[in-house]
Amino acid sequence: MIKIIRKKVKTLYTRSKIPGIEWSVNQYVGCQFACKYCYAKEIVRREESWGTWVEVKVNAPDLARRRVKGTILMSSVSDPYQPIEAKLKLTRSVLRFMDKRNELMILTKSPLVVRDVDVLKLFPRVEVGLTVNSFEGKEKKLFEPLTPIQRARINALKALYEEGIKNYAFISPIIPGITDVEEIIRETRDFVGWYFLEFLNLRKAGEEFRKNLEEEFPESYAVLTDYDKFTSYLRSIKDVLKRLNVRVEGIETHK
Ligand code: SF4
Repeated sequence: MIKIIRKKVKTLYTRSKIPGIEWSVNQYVGCQFACKYCYAKEIVRREESWGTWVEVKVNAPDLARRRVKGTILMSSVSDPYQPIEAKLKLTRSVLRFMDKRNELMILTKSPLVVRDVDVLKLFPRVEVGLTVNSFEGKEKKLFEPLTPIQRARINALKALYEEGIKNYAFISPIIPGITDVEEIIRETRDFVGWYFLEFLNLRKAGEEFRKNLEEEFPESYAVLTDYDKFTSYLRSIKDVLKRLNVRVEGIETHK
């Protein structure tokens, strides 16, 4: 059962500290996908546990009209296409009202984004990213049980490409021994514009997640916490990228 908190806000565009991103837009705060490692849970703390509530900015479409200079990320502390969006269509309304001259980057784990291709086509500068990380089976159950399956996200990337929408794959969070970067790229490179890689930020993932990872996947944990092991693993990933010769816009290691 999800708690929906409807509220009116004064502004929708907030300054971003993410490199290369000037603004972020969160028409939702909080996220039903409830990923166990989610960094946002540390940023927008509430008494209720992460994933049990979502704040809905009901006047977001009105505030979206503003023209801003610089790249906008939708979203940074929520997923713009989490399940409630299918019914509320708040993200869709924000996109409809947004100044189309704005430069927009969308990031989601949901194929629901494909629903809005008609509106996305009105933006000359939009890129849509799907997060992929090859979590399946036991790992998915433990790390992000409520998110759409990998295949659905990969299919969404393909559908966006076929519709002429620029796309990217955000390979994140990379957990050594679990996230198969090479396999992801091989499967998607024919229809993905570019990649961004991000290793798991153990600190931001929180104490509970750290403990679980250490207990259930001690070898992965060891690579993330040992400098030499991590350096060698990173080198192997860079070799893969070189060999596959795809466009990579960055690798965030959090080191
Ligand atoms: S989908 Fe993104 S915002 Fe939502 S819980 Fe997962 S990591 Fe956090």
